[in-house]
Amino acid sequence: MTVPESPCKKKKEDMAGESYEEAIAGLTKLLSEKADLEGVAAAKIKQITAELNAAGSKPFNPDQRVQTGFAHFKTEKYEKNPDLYGELAKGQSPKFMVFACSDSRVCPSHVLDFQPGEAFVVRNIANMVPPYDKTKYSGAGAAIEYAVLHLKVEIILVIGHSCCGGIKGLMSIPDDGTTASEFIEQWVQICTPAKSKVKADSQLSFQEQCTNCEKEAVNVSLGNLLTYPFVRDGLVKKTLTLKGAHYNFVDGTFELWDLDFKITPSVSV
Ligand SMILES: [Zn+2]
Repeated sequence: MTVPESPCKKKKEDMAGESYEEAIAGLTKLLSEKADLEGVAAAKIKQITAELNAAGSKPFNPDQRVQTGFAHFKTEKYEKNPDLYGELAKGQSPKFMVFACSDSRVCPSHVLDFQPGEAFVVRNIANMVPPYDKTKYSGAGAAIEYAVLHLKVEIILVIGHSCCGGIKGLMSIPDDGTTASEFIEQWVQICTPAKSKVKADSQLSFQEQCTNCEKEAVNVSLGNLLTYPFVRDGLVKKTLTLKGAHYNFVDGTFELWDLDFKITPSVSV
């Protein structure tokens, strides 16, 4: 077999083509010499054709995916940790409350290896904590109230992440405030103060501004946590700590930071 000088990609295609043709040529030669193998060859070709068809066009089956996933979890995790799941059947007392983005790449249980029972998690677009508002943001408020007052979590951790579509959306809202979405832009504008801070540094590329905004938005969320009276109480009594973080899945790094709010009992936000 001779392969002419050519770019790598072309070379690979040529080689793949030749090896396929060689295989067919070999089969044809064999069949011309041993005609009695024709029936066996036909059956095998039919089988290969069916396999290739199945591999190329197998429709995604969500029910099967869920059943397979649960079966794996049950045999590999649930049945192998009866003590843990026995305890969890009685109740939960997670030390962490975590705000993370809904992005499918940033599940905090995966990234931080949280085991069941360790973290009470809220996930939403761009991992934002809205300010205290009983009507607009009752979902977030209920989760924070439950975590702080009933579960008595010790740490609230807000995790931003690289390539966040929600933050990119916030950074892309035009200055005149025109929006095109039903919910998304209104939601991400919770962190407009982060956008304003980042936009003030016009030396940066849009990409760099987005990365900075991913981190500044976490700080805005930490600030918004102070608008909840039970969070402030926890900070004053030192039963609660707030932490910010940024997970970069492009370079595989995780930044963690504290914000010193210098809380005093008379603080008003
Ligand atoms: Zn995101």
